[in-house]
Amino acid sequence: MNESPGAGRFAPSPTSELHVGNLRTALVAWLMARSTRRRFLVRIEDLDVARVAAAPAVAAGQLRDLAALGLDWDGEVVRQSDRLDRYADALARLPHYECFCTRREIAEAASAPHADGHRPYPGTCRGLSDADRAARRAVRPPALRVDAGVPPPVVTVHDVWAGAVTGEVDDFVLRRNDGAYAYNLAVVVDDLAQGVDQVVRGDDLLSSSPRQAWLAGRLGGRPPEYAHVPLVVNAAGARLAKRDGAVTLGELAAQGLDADGVRSLLGWSLGLNGPDEAVSPGVLLARWDPARLPRARWTFAWPGDRPAG
Ligand code: GLU
Repeated sequence: MNESPGAGRFAPSPTSELHVGNLRTALVAWLMARSTRRRFLVRIEDLDVARVAAAPAVAAGQLRDLAALGLDWDGEVVRQSDRLDRYADALARLPHYECFCTRREIAEAASAPHADGHRPYPGTCRGLSDADRAARRAVRPPALRVDAGVPPPVVTVHDVWAGAVTGEVDDFVLRRNDGAYAYNLAVVVDDLAQGVDQVVRGDDLLSSSPRQAWLAGRLGGRPPEYAHVPLVVNAAGARLAKRDGAVTLGELAAQGLDADGVRSLLGWSLGLNGPDEAVSPGVLLARWDPARLPRARWTFAWPGDRPAG
């Protein structure tokens, strides 16, 4: 047998600096990959920000932060904006149709959004005639949706921490009506092309995984192992965000907590070390046991929640 080692990855979008929630997910992704002898890849998911001038600088800062924490990666960092031809090829291999619905029309026609904000698409534009499509194209450029089939496939994935997750696969968007390839397409195409067989990310994306697993199969691949990390929340219990104050490496350093201190804090939040204990990435790796990942959301409110010690 000549099994390839496989790979895990961290795939940030360069929309803003990484905060401790993102950094904690990156650390867990690194620990999961390294502890299973996988390669660890970093991919910059910049399709949404392709036209934002600051995105390359933000991405460079994200890589600096990972390195400052001691999280090393293998090979070149890949940028989705360099891979548009791959998404075009995949799109051409998938059954799809043009959709002219506005957000509002979908909200009115569809059922409630899922946890990740995704609204199952009711298939409104699937049956449009050529004449209808031609008339609508004159008014509004179409998005392209996958034709997942009727009735919608129901897919169950197994998550390392959440267990079985079942979801219905609707006709989700492959290319938006501004021409940008959709996250769900790009992420699956890239994970397959890069040999990623372990996906560790925030649990806000848990409900996307049945759709993505289904798409991996449609593209001739196998779905990865999924491991969704409980989100980090602020003192009010809401998902941590940049506006919550001292949450980035730079902001925390300005308050006297350097990258080594942040690594210790993150390790402490994962139950791997004591408060303020100095720990190298190697020590965290030696102590890592996925079965012991705290399942509760971690509340981060610096400096009030600084561990006493
Ligand atoms: N780029 C996504 C994000 O920043 C992560 C996608 C993934 O890990 O599948 O939230």
